[in-house]
Amino acid sequence: MPSRPPSVDALARSLADLDLPHPLLVEAARTAIAAGDPTAARSQAEALAAALLRPVVNATGVLLHTNLGRAPLGPALDRRGDAGQPVRYSNLEFDLATGRRGSRQRHAGGLLARAAGAEAALVVNNGAAAVLLVLATFARGADVVVSRGELVEIGGGFRVPEVLAASGARLVEVGTTNRTRAADYAAALSAETALILKVHQSNYRVVGFTAAATVAELAALGPPVVADIGSGLLDAATPWLPGGPPGWLHDEPAARQTLAAGAALVTFSGDKLLGGPQAGIVAGRRDLVERCARHPLARALRPGALVLETLQATALAYLRRDLAALPFWSLATAPVGQLHQRAQALVGRLSRTDVTVVDCASVPGGGSLPGMEIPSAGVAVAGDHTVALRAWCPPIVARANEGATVCDLRTVDPADDTTLAAALAALPAPS
Ligand SMILES: *Cc1c(COP(=O)(O)O)cnc(C)c1O
Repeated sequence: MPSRPPSVDALARSLADLDLPHPLLVEAARTAIAAGDPTAARSQAEALAAALLRPVVNATGVLLHTNLGRAPLGPALDRRGDAGQPVRYSNLEFDLATGRRGSRQRHAGGLLARAAGAEAALVVNNGAAAVLLVLATFARGADVVVSRGELVEIGGGFRVPEVLAASGARLVEVGTTNRTRAADYAAALSAETALILKVHQSNYRVVGFTAAATVAELAALGPPVVADIGSGLLDAATPWLPGGPPGWLHDEPAARQTLAAGAALVTFSGDKLLGGPQAGIVAGRRDLVERCARHPLARALRPGALVLETLQATALAYLRRDLAALPFWSLATAPVGQLHQRAQALVGRLSRTDVTVVDCASVPGGGSLPGMEIPSAGVAVAGDHTVALRAWCPPIVARANEGATVCDLRTVDPADDTTLAAALAALPAPS
């Protein structure tokens, strides 16, 4: 006679070591019993725990990895554990000087404006929200002139024509896919024109027989120019980098220079080249930023204190020129020789001969700087071990390439080299 299945409750209690809330253990137990296999309850619960949001080691070499949270955050940017207080309020919307209601846009927004050379800045939830808010504020029921070469799709459903339509603005296309001149914009202007919108192509390039109007040329035409620069490079001179702008930055548009060239507003993401948390920023002329802030959508798109604290820390790091507090830039500009040394030390720590030091190439990622590579170094091991590495604690995300698994050290914090070494040491020995 088959033994009776265990009770749901007893089975759930046998999983108590798994650090999951009891109702989730009960759910795993119930599902396993219903499927006629109570022994599967543990693996069910483990899968639940593994799927929770948690830190991973990014060994892909993609610095802004959209699936891994885009820009990396670090202790200097993560203020949550800062004061060690169990209960925490903040002066999010409280003016400590007057004791009256304040604005959540004063802290991070004001500092970012300063760092970008803007009169004012407003923070929303992401870059798409920043564009939507600007269009809804200034161009509802009016014309927005855009080059046909800039009607881009960024990924994740951001398509310029669709965002324009959602805002209630009318799209007026000018020029061609490869060539649009200032005269094309000028010919399309009318009393109905609310804005000229210039969108950074971000994730692709048109090469060859091309022409595009500069922001300065467009600014001379009359209507306010809004430049969606996307990536959030604050300043093309990168004063926070001791070595100046790296070659791979190429001619990426920067907030400071775009505003100086005459753009009324720029919009960009918080978690691309800015290197902060997911956010969107509208920066530029104070009167225009204030109109955006007063639009009803601004309330729907506003970020919370966790994001604003991290963004404030990011802005302060830029103003201090504190490279160590900007994880994206620290990783991106680490000398390749240093990465080589780490790879060598890592290989030396292992008593297996199938792990070797390799040269590789990292990429900025995040839909920015297509085709740009950053020389890097890492370790390679024969065979595809990506599944085993993902199952490590913490999970390690690596690339399988031509029959080998490559771990690019540029995107790995040096403190995680020991984790990587332990995971590689535990891989099955080569046959
Ligand atoms: C990335 C990007 C966006 C969207 O920003 P999110 O922060 O992903 O919402 C919009 N416009 C441009 C030009 C971009 O590069």
